[in-house]
Amino acid sequence: MPTETDSAPETLPGLPVVSPPPAVGVLVPLALFQPYDYLVPPELTSAGMDLVRGDFVTVPLGRRSVTGIVWGAPTGDVDPAKLKPVTARLPLPSLPAATCAFIDWVAQYTMAPVGAVLRMAMSVPDALEPERALKGWTVGSTEGAKLTTTRQRVLDVLQQSPPLPPTELARLAGVSAGVISDMGKVGLLRAVTLSQKRPFGQPDPATLGPELSSAQAAAAHDLARLQPGVTLIDGVTGSGKTEVYFEAIAAALRAGRQALVMVPEIALTPEWLKRFAIRFGALPAQWHSELTGLERRLTWRAVLDGSARVVVGARSSLFLPFRDLGLIIVDEEHESGFKQEEGVIYQARDMAVVRGHLAKIPVVLASATPSLETMVNVESGRYRVLHMPDRHGGATMPVIDIIDLRRDKPLKNSWIAPSLRAEIDRVLSAGEQALLFLNRRGYAPLTLCRGCGHRLQCPRCTAWLVEHRFHQKLMCHHCGFEAPVPPACPACGAEGHFAACGPGVERLAEEAAALFPDARRLVLTSDTVTGPAKAESLMRSVAEREVDLVIGTQIIAKGHNFPHLTLVGVVDADLGLHGGDLRAAERTYQLMQQVAGRAGRGEKPGRVYLQTYDPDRAVMQALKSGDRESFMAAEAEDRRLSGMPPFGRLAALIISGRELPAVTAKAQELARLAPHRDGVTVLGPAPAPLALLRGRHRIRFLLKTRRDIAPQGVLRSWLRGQKFQGDLRLQIDIDPYSFV
Ligand code: ADP
Ligand code: ZN
Repeated sequence: MPTETDSAPETLPGLPVVSPPPAVGVLVPLALFQPYDYLVPPELTSAGMDLVRGDFVTVPLGRRSVTGIVWGAPTGDVDPAKLKPVTARLPLPSLPAATCAFIDWVAQYTMAPVGAVLRMAMSVPDALEPERALKGWTVGSTEGAKLTTTRQRVLDVLQQSPPLPPTELARLAGVSAGVISDMGKVGLLRAVTLSQKRPFGQPDPATLGPELSSAQAAAAHDLARLQPGVTLIDGVTGSGKTEVYFEAIAAALRAGRQALVMVPEIALTPEWLKRFAIRFGALPAQWHSELTGLERRLTWRAVLDGSARVVVGARSSLFLPFRDLGLIIVDEEHESGFKQEEGVIYQARDMAVVRGHLAKIPVVLASATPSLETMVNVESGRYRVLHMPDRHGGATMPVIDIIDLRRDKPLKNSWIAPSLRAEIDRVLSAGEQALLFLNRRGYAPLTLCRGCGHRLQCPRCTAWLVEHRFHQKLMCHHCGFEAPVPPACPACGAEGHFAACGPGVERLAEEAAALFPDARRLVLTSDTVTGPAKAESLMRSVAEREVDLVIGTQIIAKGHNFPHLTLVGVVDADLGLHGGDLRAAERTYQLMQQVAGRAGRGEKPGRVYLQTYDPDRAVMQALKSGDRESFMAAEAEDRRLSGMPPFGRLAALIISGRELPAVTAKAQELARLAPHRDGVTVLGPAPAPLALLRGRHRIRFLLKTRRDIAPQGVLRSWLRGQKFQGDLRLQIDIDPYSFV
């Protein structure tokens, strides 16, 4: 290891220096398992300029020139005489050591190519180019102008913020781009040049937040000590977890360090941003899939140079090149949305814990319904816990009741039980709001021909096509395939014989329209809520009581406060319990609690009804009694007995290809080589539940190991020397969450 000294020893004069030409390993952001060696040209080795790990460089690769990162000593795989030189070092702060170490760790753990992990950290193609001027809007002349509420919202946003680029302004105000440009035309907005302007401000920890309750203050005080290690905030919805972790962010800012808040993509709401802006006097930097290219570039650069102090983002924000990250918050830590299922497959909450450990910084997990994995870590003392059992301001938790669909039967082809219908009537006539929840998009999950029984199926997947009347299409929810509803049955040619089977949210809305014709109804699904701006304006219309009855999927379950909502009817509480997911009951518990948490956030208490055909099931009883501890303990015991995570380890292997015989042959070959040792079990090969996906056949193995055996090592020896030729692919999923 080289050591740094102020005066480097000089070479003795007169003695020839015999050393190989200097070389370095450079990692490029491509699906490669290791760095490549390059020569360091003399102009890059002059005094004090040595290339070090993390430096951005350009190197030739084939006929291209690519940007890579100096990763360390050369591998020595290639004869130095044949190496090509590094082209240039880029004038950027180098990728911090913690980020490099993290990339290596994630690659080892997920078994993904390390270059593919680096690609996630460098996912901004033009981030390295010089900045361009950017157009933004500020308040123009508004004197005497008559303003629509939409236009007023735009001005309100600008009152609290520096000039904003048009897309950002439209999103925050919840208006269309057209509104902004029209306001520009009539002078209500004034165009300015946002040269070097960042799409976020400088959060100030000294801005005063709301006064905290004593329970909140105690938790906040604890977090503000910024102790390394993991802390869970276990608090009911509405207890003020967000306000509390804001104080941890304030402490990180006071310490001069950066903070990252990770949220599931759909929980990053304008409401959350507004609260942040109130607490810190500025917006945080954001990182999610809807950023424009320019916003991504500016944000990425600012994270690297340290000028973005707080970042809030979806799971990929974990791979941003923080200059000095001092705190990570994972909000709604139990959410399965933290699992990335494509490309590099990783669990962002777990990797956040690793990132925190490598950098010796605190990680805060927040949830009203923590995951079983996290609860077990609390019990074993690996994580600390702060409890917040009460809703802020004395609001009570809603009462959860069960409707037994075997006794309280809905009519044929309808899904709302008579007792639920009566409750909704009661609430609506009292002038309160109700919510009907069904976590299934579209009109009906299955369409069949009454003539011959033929079922409309995706041509590319083992899945039924779902009718969406809103879009007037059949859609596959797995691959995105779309087709018009055929005029006649493709099997028997009968016309007009299709029957919809089962309810989707659109069909439920139809039933609600028939039952409650006078209620102002709103359907909230990913088909109607088409983006953050739309979401904001729709959620606002609920909060402001322009709607009586909301009918929605899980898009409504997160983060929104509906103060007038007093009744939630869950139409099919059993929906998530089918299939072979080891977390099915746990997830049902979490989702039902989350949906229930929408009710009774104002002064009036809320009531929740769960419609089920299986009221005796443990999860239904736990929801009813509110006894989370016993339910989770029983779940944990089940997993302990079966050696399932977190008491054992799982990895899923999926072999896929267009030709079934080739896939089967490869699976059989792997089966013959499968490991046989104590503490290791191989299940399969078996067709995956989605045996055909996007036209590819899929055969699956599950590898289960004892907790003290790393599945990665077992897999490496199992797969050593294996080639996947032609279009055959192997996908490795360590700690799988999806079992399709
Ligand atoms: P959680 O994250 O636990 O669901 P929130 O932090 O979102 O809870 O708080 C729920 C609601 O209560 C929010 O509207 C929030 O603004 C409000 N609230 C929480 N704590 C306070 C407080 N100390 N003073 C004023 N309002 C608060
Ligand atoms: Zn499909």
